[in-house]
Amino acid sequence: MRILFIFLILGLNSFSQEIPSKWEELTASDWPQALEKSKRTIILPIGILEKHGPQGPIGSDLIRAKEWAERVSDLEYAVIFPDYFYGQVNEARHIQGTFSLPSDLTMKLLEATCKEIARNGFNKILIINGHGGNPSFLRYFVQNQMESQRDYVIYFYDPEGDPEYEKKLAAQRTSDAAGDMHAGERETSELLYLRPELVQMEKSTSESGKDQMRLKNIPNIYRGIWWYASFPKHYAGRGETGTAELGKLITDHQVSSIAKALKSIKEDTETLNLQNQYFDDVRKSSTEN
Ligand SMILES: [Zn+2]
Repeated sequence: MRILFIFLILGLNSFSQEIPSKWEELTASDWPQALEKSKRTIILPIGILEKHGPQGPIGSDLIRAKEWAERVSDLEYAVIFPDYFYGQVNEARHIQGTFSLPSDLTMKLLEATCKEIARNGFNKILIINGHGGNPSFLRYFVQNQMESQRDYVIYFYDPEGDPEYEKKLAAQRTSDAAGDMHAGERETSELLYLRPELVQMEKSTSESGKDQMRLKNIPNIYRGIWWYASFPKHYAGRGETGTAELGKLITDHQVSSIAKALKSIKEDTETLNLQNQYFDDVRKSSTEN
């Protein structure tokens, strides 16, 4: 009886043992527990390497996405995939520090990465993105998941506006929200909160983050050169107005909102079922025709 009790305690201990959330920090022997604890869910934070105004680090978007993932996983456990900074950043190739792979490779790399993640036991992959040039690419990537059947689901965190939060944000910020798109008040604040030692605030006014409006001749037409036309220095907004306090507000909101989505994803069985049903229908219609 006493021996049984000791075994029970040992068993409980090994089950409740804290394990890291970062893929690279887990041991191979932790893997079964990581899969169970995460409900086979992994976060894939995607960033980019590109200039962030005169003051921000090149990896600002990677740093932000990784920090969100770590904070989210503390609230709601999931494994976190290591540094991933391959995305759409063709518009910044004229500035040093930009890492921009060919577009077809970028798509294939993400597809192969997700397949390889799934081969390791995960069937739910939550993509969280830190880079403003990525959403169109990521939505297309998610649509491409319907091209062929797979035994996992890609979830892309693509939040709708939250009026309550927007109100708080508007009350705290000091620069114009409309022009604050890249390394401006919002993003600089996030970095000042997350990694202040990497922000060179004294340089934040050495360049202009104003819209240069160099391409306004044809309305309602989208062109790849639009960003370069408006923000050739990869600076959009006023970084000098950033504060760590604002950064905390933004980060806390982002983290709680992703954690909420992650909790639902871990419980979700409907998406994979429906995905499988869809491919059954595709097969049926293909043999009928
Ligand atoms: Zn950024």
